Amino acid sequence: STGSRNGQGFKGHDMLAPFTAGWQAADLNPLVIAKSKGSYVYDVNGKKYLDSLAGLWCTSLGGSEPRLVAAAMAQLNTLPFYHSFWNRTTKPSLDLAKEILEIFTARKMAKVFFSNSGSEANDTQVKLVWYYNNALGRPNKKKIIARSKSYHGSTLISASLSGLPALHQKFDLPAPFVLHTDCPHYWRYRLPGETEEEFSSRLAKSLESLILAEGPETIAAFIAEPVMGAGGVILPPATYFDKVQAVLKKYDILFIADEVICGFGRLGAMFGCDKYDIKPDLVSTAKALSSAYMPIGAVIVSPEVSDVIHSQSNKLGTFSHGFTYSGHPVACAVAIETLKIYRERNIVEQVKNIAPRFQDGVKAFSNSPIIGEIRGTGLVLGTEFTDNKSPNNPFPPEWGIGAYFGAMCEKHGMLIRVAGDSIMMSPPFIISPEEVDELISIYGKALKDTEERVKE
Ligand code: PLP
Repeated sequence: STGSRNGQGFKGHDMLAPFTAGWQAADLNPLVIAKSKGSYVYDVNGKKYLDSLAGLWCTSLGGSEPRLVAAAMAQLNTLPFYHSFWNRTTKPSLDLAKEILEIFTARKMAKVFFSNSGSEANDTQVKLVWYYNNALGRPNKKKIIARSKSYHGSTLISASLSGLPALHQKFDLPAPFVLHTDCPHYWRYRLPGETEEEFSSRLAKSLESLILAEGPETIAAFIAEPVMGAGGVILPPATYFDKVQAVLKKYDILFIADEVICGFGRLGAMFGCDKYDIKPDLVSTAKALSSAYMPIGAVIVSPEVSDVIHSQSNKLGTFSHGFTYSGHPVACAVAIETLKIYRERNIVEQVKNIAPRFQDGVKAFSNSPIIGEIRGTGLVLGTEFTDNKSPNNPFPPEWGIGAYFGAMCEKHGMLIRVAGDSIMMSPPFIISPEEVDELISIYGKALKDTEERVKE
C-alpha cells in the first residue's frame, strides 16, 4: 500500500516520524531506495525520482560515477585498511591531505585531520580549540558560540553546537559551554526599515554583547556555516561576515567554518569562505569531499593553531584523539578521485553556469500566495511557506504544509528535504539543464497541489 506516502494524513518522514533518522522498523513504511543513476534514484518498485537533495546534500557527482567505483576497487585490492595512528599512515591519506591544503585557498592552512563524518569533524574542532587554549595556558577560554538555526551534527557536542531545538529538547542539550547567538535571517528577523547592512551591524553588536557579558577570556571559538543548510538555507546578509570577523578578532576568538554542505563547489565557489571572504582558523568538511561514495570528513587547521599544538614547548604532549577509520585509505582514495574530477571538469564553473537556471526557475514561483520566501545561491535553495507572504504568519503546524509539498513532490517523482514549513533542495553538481527544467516543473506541480490544499 502507498499508505502515508500518498499525501493523505502525511506527517513527514524524518524529524516528525516516531523514530527519527537512522532508526529502522518494518512498520514505518519508509521509501526504500534501491538504485541510483546520475541525478536520479529508484525505489524498490522501480519508481524513478529526481534527487533534488543529492542524497543529503552530498552526492555531488550523482549516483553513478564509475571513476569513484574504480578508485574504491583499486584501493580495496591494494590496501583495504591501515590506520593513521602513532606516526603511521597510508599514502591515500597523505595525498588527500596535501590536495585539500592546495585547494583551500581562502587563507593558508597547515594540517588536515580526517574523521568519518561532519559531526565527528565538529567534535574534533572543539577538542582542538580546547587543547590549543590549554597549551597556551588559558584553560578558562573554552566556550563556543554557535548560531540559532545552525546545524552542525548529531553527536553530543555537534548537536549542542547546532541551534535547532529538536536536537536539544529531551536530550539535556546543549552542553553548558555552548552559547547561541542570532540567526542571520534578514527576511525573518529584520526590524521595520532596517537595511541588510544595518541588520548585520545589529547582529555583530549582539554577538559582541554576548562575548562581553560572558567575558571574552572565556570564549574560545565561534562556529558558522557560510550558508546555513538544514536550518532552512539561510544566506548571510550583506557585510555580515566582515562585521562578525572584526568582533572575533578583537577578542582573540577562533573562527570555525563549517563547510560540510558549502565546501567543494555547492555555492558556485570552491568554499563558502571564498565566497564570503572568511579567513577561518579551522574548517570542517565532509559530504562532497567524497561525493558521499565513502564516509569521510576533514578538519583543516591553520598554521597558528597547529604550531601551538605541535610546538616543542607544548607541555601537554600528544593530541590524544583519533578514530580507527581516520584517514581510511578507501575513503581517501575515493575523495582523491572526487577532487580530481572536480578539477578536470572545472566543477565550480559548472555549478556557476547551471545555477541561474535553477535559482531563477524556482524563484519565479515567489509570487505564490503560500510562499513567504525563496532563497538560495549556487546549487542550494530553500522555500519557506507562510500565509500572506509574511514571516510572522506561519500556517498552523497541524496542516503540515511543508510535509504535504514534500509528499506531492514525491508523488510527481522528486525527493526534497522537508523541515516544518521549509523545504530545501541541493541537487548534484552534475545536474543537466533538462533535469533542472524537470525539477522546476515538478516543483510547480507540487506547489499547485499545495495551494489547492490550503484553499480547502
Ligand atoms: N555540519 C553541517 C553544516 C551539516 O549540514 C551536517 C550534516 O548535514 C553536519 C555538520 C553533520 O555531518 P554528518 O551528518 O556527516 O555527521
